[in-house]
Amino acid sequence: MNKKSVLIIDDNIYDRDSMAELLRDDYIIIESDDTDNIVRKIETDIDNFAAVILDVTNDEQAGYAFLHEMKRKGYIKRVPVIVTSGAGDEEAEIDALSMGASDFLRKPYNPVIVQKRLNNIIDLRENVSTGQHSKKDPLTGLYSEEVFCSKAAQLLEEYPDTEYAIVYSDMENFQLLKDLFGENAGSNILVYMARVFKHFISKDELCGRMEADHFILFLKYDEDSLKDNLESIVNIINDFPVNMTIRIRFGIYKIEDRTMSVHAMCNRAILTVDTIKGKYGKHIAFYDKKIWEQQVYEQEIVNCMEDALKEKQFKVYFQPKYDLNSERVAGAEALVRWNHPTKGFMNPAEFIQLFEKNGFITELDKFVWDTTCSYIEEWIKNGYPIVPVSVNVSRTDIYNPDFIEIILDIINRHHLEPEHLHLEITETAYTENPQQIIETVKKLKLIGFVIEMDDFGSGYSSLNMLNELPIDILKLDMGFVQGDLSLNSNSILSFIIGLAKWMDYAVVAEGIETEEQIQMLRNMDCNFVQGYYYAKPMPPDEFEAYMLKHNVDCDSTDASTDIEELRFKKSQGIMLIVDDLALNRKILRESFEGYFKIIEKENGAEAFEYIKENYKDIEVIMLDLVMPVMDGFTLMKQLRLDDKYSNMPIIVTSQGGDKSVEKSFELGATDFVEKPYNVRIIFHRVQNVIMAFKNARMNSDKNTNKSNI
Ligand code: C2E
Ligand code: CA
Ligand code: CA
Repeated sequence: MNKKSVLIIDDNIYDRDSMAELLRDDYIIIESDDTDNIVRKIETDIDNFAAVILDVTNDEQAGYAFLHEMKRKGYIKRVPVIVTSGAGDEEAEIDALSMGASDFLRKPYNPVIVQKRLNNIIDLRENVSTGQHSKKDPLTGLYSEEVFCSKAAQLLEEYPDTEYAIVYSDMENFQLLKDLFGENAGSNILVYMARVFKHFISKDELCGRMEADHFILFLKYDEDSLKDNLESIVNIINDFPVNMTIRIRFGIYKIEDRTMSVHAMCNRAILTVDTIKGKYGKHIAFYDKKIWEQQVYEQEIVNCMEDALKEKQFKVYFQPKYDLNSERVAGAEALVRWNHPTKGFMNPAEFIQLFEKNGFITELDKFVWDTTCSYIEEWIKNGYPIVPVSVNVSRTDIYNPDFIEIILDIINRHHLEPEHLHLEITETAYTENPQQIIETVKKLKLIGFVIEMDDFGSGYSSLNMLNELPIDILKLDMGFVQGDLSLNSNSILSFIIGLAKWMDYAVVAEGIETEEQIQMLRNMDCNFVQGYYYAKPMPPDEFEAYMLKHNVDCDSTDASTDIEELRFKKSQGIMLIVDDLALNRKILRESFEGYFKIIEKENGAEAFEYIKENYKDIEVIMLDLVMPVMDGFTLMKQLRLDDKYSNMPIIVTSQGGDKSVEKSFELGATDFVEKPYNVRIIFHRVQNVIMAFKNARMNSDKNTNKSNI
């Protein structure tokens, strides 16, 4: 395997060299003494960078500017940055982590820890993005995107008079299919699809797989036969023996401008498929003038959005949510509207996505939160009945390091409590950068906000992820209720509601338009509903009148007790805490009992007995070194003797000292945290370690699956 590069940025030449020395066996080392132009350097060869180690001892500002730039350009997701500092205290560490750094090491560091952490972090990223750069897709044997594009370019040159098209295929419910029928079924269907595609392409045509369920075809263009072929492909794919309709959609770009890069052509095909996303019954779309015009329209919107905010053209509407049990209003959602002077009254569908792309959404959302809070404040002042109001939080908001401060500032200014607001975070946000979102959402929950996962099941996230997320309420995507009420989708819906309830999440269904749907949801034990059947989103004065007229569940604002309870019940795996001092155990227990089932043992011998019986359920071990009867080292030695124990990450928690650190790692520790602990930092470590282990396990499962096909 090719060595990857690690970039070390440190103005202290001695530190830089010693770090380089440490890593040289495993990585190509690139050194720099400042951050100038470094992002550009990374940009040119991003796939070859495994990590950046950034020292901020002498110039925190420049260091953080670099982090910020890496984040803004989206590189930090691909190249992890580890921050080091000689000056930093815990606050600095937390700052760095919340700015997107993957880890923080205080100087002087222990070399073994550095190596171990770096490897952990790199493994974590690699596992997320493996398979991206090889020539052939190992699963299906089709071309990778790169190869596909260069071969297509060759063919275009070779046959200047043949008409060609790029066809991009997308399977709408792939993730759900995998969740319901297993990872294996997912792989099988991809292999099957690849075969079907191959069957339909002839000489001088190409077929590739981009990522996940996305295939790309390079075909000779003839509108009629292309349509026929794609129809047949959809039918044949649906012959695959799985108890679910497979929803495939194609975006077609007929190649007209051959000077464009094939990548850009593919992008047009992708843009095209996006126009029929979520549209039932439509599975073919051609790139056309409308898509081009859409791009022009978007430009117009961008030109006037800032003035619109200043001129108060945006309005906040409210739509009630009902408790199905008590039949009372139990909440509301704040939804923005744009009253444009020439374009008229616009729904969010026409601009939100665009604002998310260009970042303006953060400004608009701040306005919506602030306006919502000022209404609630007024309602309270007037003695009106109130319910918690959900506001939408876009993914861009959460990546903003000041997000928590901003929202707290808003509620403080209006003399409200976090309980007055629910935060709706769309499901897709969680899949892009789970690590960072989970961190932020955990903090929000601790502060007292109720978190709703919006649009759940819209096709991206995984049911497997569900129980790891710090949320309170699951809000089902409208498609579940509004799609055909056939037996299949019905049983999927009831399965998902059942699963959510089993995990102690409350469930909201939205888009409820008929009595029939309400009946169905009630039978499935869904908690809350929102939809036109009850009320459309309405302007604030109408909403006030509505609340005065209807039966309102005022207690629902006080959600705090519920949340605490939910946190406690949400335990999946076991955290085994091994420490002879009760106080140490208490600190760990109190920090983690909402997240794990906690088991405490006072020494290695007791712990070992417990592990023998329960190793399958243990998610992480927190291990002290110095204990009576059997110490931590001895326990690790015991565990090393049997392979079946190797799936449990061990985090050693002990007084530092190079000797014990080194010895711990030699004996198989996954990480080392020095006492006395900072709880917030331990959180981060535990999370990192568990994610790394999970990913590694998933990967090895995947590999075994692959070899079965
Ligand atoms: P969402 O968060 O999923 O909001 C629910 C959407 O469903 C709203 O559309 C609502 O008006 C609509 N709806 C409610 N009941 C029914 C029903 O019975 N039938 C049908 N067909 N639709 C129903 P709306 O207001 O057009 O908002 C669309 C999306 O725009 C929202 O989807 C949300 O993602 C986004 N959005 C709206 N306001 C904001 C905002 O202030 N900030 C952010 N970031 N996004 C917002
Ligand atoms: Ca929402
Ligand atoms: Ca929604």
